[in-house]
Amino acid sequence: MPSDLQRARIGQYLGEAQAEHMKLLSEFLSMPSVSNDPENVRLCGQWLAQLMQQCGLNAELFETGGNPILVGRLGVETRSAPTVLLYAHYDVQPPGPISAWVSQPFEPEVRDGSLFARGAADDKSQILAILLAIRTLLATDVPIPNNLILLFEGEEEAGSPNLPEFCLAHLSSLRADIALAIDGKRHYTEVPTLRFGIRGGLSIDVRVKTAPDDLSLSYQNIAQNAAVEIAHLAASLFRDDGKVAVPGFEEGIIPPTDEEESWLRDLEFDTSILREETGLPLPDGFDTVDFMRETIFSSVLNVTGLSAGYSGDGHKSSIPNSGLLKIDCRLALGQEPTLVLQQVEQYLRHCCRTGMIEINVDHRHPPSRTNATDPRVRWFIKAFKDAVAEDVALIPSFGGTGPHKVFVDTLEAPLIWVALPQADCNTHRANENIRLDVFFEGIELMCKLLLSSGLPRGTAEDQHCRGSAWHDENLGTQKTDR
Ligand SMILES: [Zn+2]
Repeated sequence: MPSDLQRARIGQYLGEAQAEHMKLLSEFLSMPSVSNDPENVRLCGQWLAQLMQQCGLNAELFETGGNPILVGRLGVETRSAPTVLLYAHYDVQPPGPISAWVSQPFEPEVRDGSLFARGAADDKSQILAILLAIRTLLATDVPIPNNLILLFEGEEEAGSPNLPEFCLAHLSSLRADIALAIDGKRHYTEVPTLRFGIRGGLSIDVRVKTAPDDLSLSYQNIAQNAAVEIAHLAASLFRDDGKVAVPGFEEGIIPPTDEEESWLRDLEFDTSILREETGLPLPDGFDTVDFMRETIFSSVLNVTGLSAGYSGDGHKSSIPNSGLLKIDCRLALGQEPTLVLQQVEQYLRHCCRTGMIEINVDHRHPPSRTNATDPRVRWFIKAFKDAVAEDVALIPSFGGTGPHKVFVDTLEAPLIWVALPQADCNTHRANENIRLDVFFEGIELMCKLLLSSGLPRGTAEDQHCRGSAWHDENLGTQKTDR
C-alpha cells in the first residue's frame, strides 16, 4: 500500500496533468484504427509505441501476419519479482452508419461531461489509463512492486487471428504469473468490475446458388429460388419452441460452479433497467441468476443477417439465383467450436434442398474461463478489493467473446478482465463515449491496481518467479483453465 505522502504526490500529479491527459486521449481517438484498415492501424500503433517509450517502458513493435502487436516491458529483465501481464487492444470497431452519430466518430467531442468517439471506451481510454498510471508512478517515485509486460493488440475486433501464434513464438519473453485484460465495461452500479472468462464465438457464412444468373419468372416452375432456399435454411435452424434445432448443439456444456453462482447472487440486478435498455418484456421475478444463466452460461445460435433477391422500391420480376445467410454462435464452456461447426454444417447440408451450398467460417474463439480457485486469482481478488477499498462486482464471464484461452493455455497465466468505463458507454454502437470523471478516476484506479500487485508482497524479493522453487512452493503448477 502506498503511504499517505505517496498518495498525496500521486493525487497532485494527476490533478496537474489532467489537461495533458485529456489532450492525449483526444489525439489517440482521432486515429481511425479500424481493424480492417491496416494502414491507419499501423500509424496508430507507431504513435502508441512512442507514447509507451515516453511513459518509461521499453517498447517494441512486432510484425505479425496482420496488424502489429506492441510489447512494453518494465523491470522484467533486471528485477526478481512476480510479473503481471496487461493486455488491451488499440484497434476499434468500424463506426457503422455515420448518420447515427451526433458528432463524427473520429473527431472526438465533449458533450455533457463525456467524450464521444469510436474507441472512447473500447479500448483506447483503458490503454491510456494503464500507460498514464505507469507514468504517474514513475514520475512520483512510487515503486511498482511487480514487473510488468504490456501486450497491446491491433486485431482484437477482427477476432485476434495472429495473437495465438505470436504468444507461442514469444513464449519465454511473455511469461507472467498473472494476466489482466483491461477491457469491457463496469456493472451498471459502477463499482469496479472483474470478469473471469468469455463465451466462445463462431461466425459462419452460408451461401446458396441455384443458377449461374437471375432467371426470368417464366422459368419459375422448373427453377429453384435462392431467396426461398435461404429463408428455408434460416427457419430450419430453429424448432417451433425457438430452441436450436441442430442435433447435439448444446452437448458438453459445463455448468457454473457453486462459487460462480454465489457471485451472481451477490450482484445487484434491476429488471427495469434491463427492460429499458433492451425494450424486452421481461417477466417480473426475472433475476440476476436467470439473466446470467441465459447470457453467459448457455450457448446461442443467432441468424445475424440474410440477403437474396431484390428489396428496393417497386418489383423486379426475376428468380433470385444466390443468397447469403450469416450465422453467429456464442458457445458456453465445454463446447468445441470445431465440433459445433461440423454439427451446423452437417445439419444445413441435410436441410438444403438445392444441393448448391457453400459454408465458410469467418472467425472462431474457443470458450474459456479462469479457474477462480487458483491461488493467484484468490490473491488478486483480495488485493484488488483492498486497494480500491469499495465493493467490487465479480462476474464469472462475459456474454461476448474475445481472446482468453491463449493466456490461460499457451502462456499459462490466469486471465482476469478489469473494466474501467461506465456501463452506458455504447461499446460497438454509435455515439460511443467515456465519461471524463470515469476516465480520470480510471487512471487512479490503474495506479491502485499496479500498486496492489495481486501477488503476495515480499515473497518474491530474492527469488525468481516462474519455474522457480518460489513459484512452485507458493503457486504450485496447477493448470488454470477448466
Ligand atoms: Zn474491447
